[in-house]
Amino acid sequence: MPLALALCAAPAAGAAAPHPEDAADLILRHGVFYPVAPPGAVAGSLAVRAGRIVYLGPDAGAAALAGPATEVVDLAGRAVTPGLIDAHSHLIGLGAALEQVDLVGTASYDEVIARIARAAAALPAGAWVRGRGWDQNDWPEKSFPRHRALSAAVPNHPVWVGRIDGHAALLNARALAALGIDAAIADPPGGRFLRDEAGEPTGVLIDRAMGAVGGRVEPPAAEELERRLRAAAAHCLERGLTTVTDMGVDAAELAAYETLAAAGGLPLRVAAFLEDDAGLLERWLARGPLTGGGRYTVRGVKLYADGALGSRGAALIEPYSDDPGNLGLLTSSGDHLRAVAGRALAGGFQVAIHAIGDRGNLIALDALEGALGGPRPEARCRIEHAQVMRVQDIERMAALGVIASMQPTHATSDGPWAGDRVGAHRLAGAYAWRKVLAAGGRLALGSDFPVESADPRLGLYAAVTRQDLAGEPAGGWLPGELLSREEALSGFTLDAAYALFLDAEIGSLEPGKRADLVVWGRDPMTVPAAEIPTAEIDLVVVDGAIARQREGAR
Ligand SMILES: [Zn+2]
Repeated sequence: MPLALALCAAPAAGAAAPHPEDAADLILRHGVFYPVAPPGAVAGSLAVRAGRIVYLGPDAGAAALAGPATEVVDLAGRAVTPGLIDAHSHLIGLGAALEQVDLVGTASYDEVIARIARAAAALPAGAWVRGRGWDQNDWPEKSFPRHRALSAAVPNHPVWVGRIDGHAALLNARALAALGIDAAIADPPGGRFLRDEAGEPTGVLIDRAMGAVGGRVEPPAAEELERRLRAAAAHCLERGLTTVTDMGVDAAELAAYETLAAAGGLPLRVAAFLEDDAGLLERWLARGPLTGGGRYTVRGVKLYADGALGSRGAALIEPYSDDPGNLGLLTSSGDHLRAVAGRALAGGFQVAIHAIGDRGNLIALDALEGALGGPRPEARCRIEHAQVMRVQDIERMAALGVIASMQPTHATSDGPWAGDRVGAHRLAGAYAWRKVLAAGGRLALGSDFPVESADPRLGLYAAVTRQDLAGEPAGGWLPGELLSREEALSGFTLDAAYALFLDAEIGSLEPGKRADLVVWGRDPMTVPAAEIPTAEIDLVVVDGAIARQREGAR
C-alpha cells in the first residue's frame, strides 16, 4: 500500500550533511501541509528541531536538514494539519464519563451485573463504579432489581448506577454501607428507599432518596482524578487533539493537574479555567496566572450567566416559544459577573462567561463591557456557547473584541428542537457562526466534551455541513451559517489557540512554533464532507515527538 509509513534515519542521497547542531530531529516529507497561517496548502516537507518547526517548504530544503540521527517519515502524499485544539471542553469530566458504565440496552439484570463487574475489574478496589442506563422494563421479569446478586458479583467496589430516566439508582452492598443506608434509614419527602419483605433496603433509591444520600459520596481522591486525566488525555490524543481545555476546575482538580504536569505525565496541552469560587479566586488572584512554557496553563476564569436551552434554563429576553411565561434562569447576577470579571482582569486573568440564551448573552456582554471599560480585544474575553443572540448583540460582541467560543456539534444536536424553544424569529442569531465572522468577530471552536463527543472530526464535519451524521437535514440547518473548511480548521486550531493566549506558540504550522500536528489518512480538506468523521488520524505529534500512531498506519 502506498499509504504505509516508511520510517528511516538516513539523510537523503546527495544532500550535503548539515552541521550536527542544525540537523532536524524529525522530517515529514512528501506531504500536503495545511499551515492555516498563511491559508492554503504546501506540498513538500516539514522539519522539526528541539520541539519546534524549523522548516516548511519544498522537499529538497528539508533534505538538507537531515542528519544521521534524523527520523524521516515519508507521508506518501498524506495531509498534515496543525494539532487540533478544543477551545471549550472538560478534560477531567471526560475522564469521569469514560469510566461510566453504559447500561443502555441491557436485556437482563445478569447483563447489567456483567457489565458492572467488567468495569470494576479495571478499577482499583474501593473506587466507585458509576454508570447509568438500566431499564427493568427491558428485562424478562420487569421488576426492580435487588442488590444481592450485584453485591455478590462486585463485592469490593461501591456501585451507583442510574436508571435510564435518572429517577432511580441501584446501589450494591458496599455503597449502601458507605452511605449509611440500612433498615433504619427514613424515606425523605419526595423519595423512597425500596425495601424487601424484612424491611432491608433492596439497593434501589427513588427520586429524592438519591439526593438525600448523594452528598455523602466522598469526592474523588487525588489518584482517581489523575487516573481520569490520563485516560481522557489518551482519548483526546487518539482523535487528533493536541490541546484541550478544562472549563471550570476546582482546587482538587488543579492539584491533580499540577501533580501530573510536574511528573511529565501530560501527553497534550491543557488550558484550565478556574471555577467561580470565592476562595479559589482569591488565592489565584494573589498568585497570578500560570503560563510559563509547560503544557499546562491556568490563566482564565469561567463564570456562568445562565443555564442550557434543552432544559429551558437558558435566559431569554422574551418567553420560551414552547413554554409561555418561562424566561429561563440567570445563574449569576450581572453585578456579580461584572465584579468578578473586573477583579480577574485586573489580576491578569482572562474571563470566559457561559451564556446561552439571548438574555444570558446580553447580561454577559453588559458585564464584560463594564469590566473592560470599552472595546479591549487584547483582553481576549470570551463568551462560551453564545448560542442564541440578538443580531445586534453579535455585532456588539465583535466590537468589544469578545471572542465567541462555540461548538459546532451543539448546533447539529440542538437543531431539531431549538426552533421550538426560541421560535423562528430568534433563529436569526442562533448558532450563528457566520454572523460572528461577518461582524468582524473572533470565533473559536470546540465540543464541550463530554457533553458532546470529544472527536474534533465531528466538529469539523458539523461546522461545514450543519448536518447530523445521517446527513440530516438536507443542505444543513440554517445553511447561511455554514463555515468553509478553512474557517472550520482555523476555528479548531489557530483561532482556538488565540482564545487561549497560545497563538504565539501553537495553532499553525509556522517555523518557530511548537511542532504540534496531525497526519491524516485521508485529507480532511478535500474528501467529501461525509467522510470527514471517519478520516483516519495516522500520527499525532506533540512538541515534535510522535505522541500517537494509528495501528496499521506504518
Ligand atoms: Zn462546558
